[in-house]
Amino acid sequence: NGCPKVALVIGITGIVGGSLAKILPRSDAPGGPWKVYGVARRPQPRWFADAPIEYIQCDVLNEADTQEKITPLRDVTHLFWVVWINRSTEERNCQDNGKMFQNVLDALLPNAPRLQHIVLQTGAKHYVGPFALAGKNFTHEPPFKEDMPRLPVPNFYYTLEDIIFETVKKKEGLTWSVHRPNAILGFSPWSLMNILGSLAVYAAICKREGLPFRYPGNRATWEQFGDASDAELIAEQEVWACLDPNGKNQAFNVSSGDVFNYKRVWHLLAGKFGLQVAPYNGQPISMKELMKDKGPVWDAMVEEHDLVATKLDDVGNWWFVDFILNTPVPAILNPNKAKELGFLGFRNTETSILHWVGKMQRKKIIP
Ligand code: NAD
Repeated sequence: NGCPKVALVIGITGIVGGSLAKILPRSDAPGGPWKVYGVARRPQPRWFADAPIEYIQCDVLNEADTQEKITPLRDVTHLFWVVWINRSTEERNCQDNGKMFQNVLDALLPNAPRLQHIVLQTGAKHYVGPFALAGKNFTHEPPFKEDMPRLPVPNFYYTLEDIIFETVKKKEGLTWSVHRPNAILGFSPWSLMNILGSLAVYAAICKREGLPFRYPGNRATWEQFGDASDAELIAEQEVWACLDPNGKNQAFNVSSGDVFNYKRVWHLLAGKFGLQVAPYNGQPISMKELMKDKGPVWDAMVEEHDLVATKLDDVGNWWFVDFILNTPVPAILNPNKAKELGFLGFRNTETSILHWVGKMQRKKIIP
């Protein structure tokens, strides 16, 4: 119908939230221009100041705060769930991520009569299991397909899907889509998992300190080919699913569509930062260990280069780097389903890497 589309994006400052904030308000956006409400837990950051959206600071884990801030948004037509919090066990992840989702739905459903579609972003851990178990006992054979059965272990992605299945029973005509990226290449100094951002920060620290630009992962990720998911492409697929009847009531993998290895990433980053790639000796080193004393170095770099004020722990997700660069097998997604149903978007991963690192520099997150 011709009514203006109104997005409520939960996790607006995150790695995909930021891309949704960029593409939805444009006059040439599919179905657009959209009005956008963007929710995040912290106050609007300086690097986000120019986004043409209505920024709402709200902790969606807090039921009262969610009721207060979300119930007035009566014109919302589409909900985008691009948020998560990380707890110490998967049981707690299920509990708290489920609670956040339910809090927002409870505030929205009775009050937003035009709500049509819910976008839920999860990821490849749907197929390999949560971090603590990934690759251990239960795992599907890559490349992963959307119709592979759930693994017999707790996974907050399953909790969120189940909440959707219950929710759509309550409102006739309400549709949904689930989007499953692999490691996301994008921009967000606040993301809990930003592999490229973390590696760019590491490269910048190596440059300043004169350290060898060593690859910290295992030989499999150094040499073997895997896939990644460009943040803006994920946002495009999510918008497509909102608008196209073929995108309704099902799950879609989303990857950039080509393959790469980290050896190539290392050479690209070396080129960007004027570094030499140190010879690879096959010995993994823990980035968490390597970076544990570098907080003051980062603070000094922020000062020297007049960067946006960030803490090393926010821009460098070292535990995630250690995880991604040490997986034993490439967790490749089969990207065919969305294509066959009409979403033909893709990204060139090398171009995507250079684009996002360039954006970090333009936005003064890294030197
Ligand atoms: P993110 O970590 O980049 O961003 C999270 C956003 O949510 C931020 O804007 C943050 O402010 C906000 N937020 C956090 N807690 C909040 C709260 N209590 N109330 C309100 N806002 C809150 O998010 P992401 O990486 O896009 O994660 C979304 C989904 O994508 C998750 O299920 C994640 O597992 C999945 N995923 C991520 C990656 C990746 O590489 N980042 C890869 C595959 C799948």
